[in-house]
Amino acid sequence: MYKLPDLNYEYSALEPFIDEATMRIHHTKHHQGYIDKLNKALEGHENLMNLTIEELMMKLDEIPEEIKQVVINNGGGHINHSMFWEILRASKENNKPEGEIEKAINQKFGNFEEFKKLFNEKAMSLFGSGWVFLELTTNGLNVKRHSFQNNPLMYGNKPIMGIDVWEHAYYLKYQNRRAEYVDAWWNVVNWEKVEERYLEASK
Ligand code: MN
Repeated sequence: MYKLPDLNYEYSALEPFIDEATMRIHHTKHHQGYIDKLNKALEGHENLMNLTIEELMMKLDEIPEEIKQVVINNGGGHINHSMFWEILRASKENNKPEGEIEKAINQKFGNFEEFKKLFNEKAMSLFGSGWVFLELTTNGLNVKRHSFQNNPLMYGNKPIMGIDVWEHAYYLKYQNRRAEYVDAWWNVVNWEKVEERYLEASK
């Protein structure tokens, strides 16, 4: 059975950029909902239920056709949200990448501001529900939109960080003002954790 991971901060920790009510509902209702539907779909498939969620997303070929799309939607929902909570934290001044991830971003995108600009453009131009990821591919870092709960692992790439641009991630506070949410979100990115994920993915 897949389980909802605890946050290692309070629901209010990301205020004022992401509000407490949104965090609470997003974690306990939306994320939990994906997990419940995933577990239900995998009933009778103990071999799949015993995989880590990363393994499950990389083994879509082994999933029976009749449950494959449900597993993609809800397994994707589980892994994406697990990453999302992990790469956030309370805001701090001058929040920006450092270390190897900073070097890699500068090398690929020029500098942090250019990277942010590209990432924001992708977030604003994503039609409907989905995510924008910084992913590691065989050609290095890449910024990519994924619709619904699709995840880079499904395509053989590694998710380093990403933003949830489903309306449920911002609607209570920002209503239709996605750009304000995306701008605010940069304040609460946990770059130490992103660095950790980047180093792990680069191994
Ligand atoms: Mn979400």
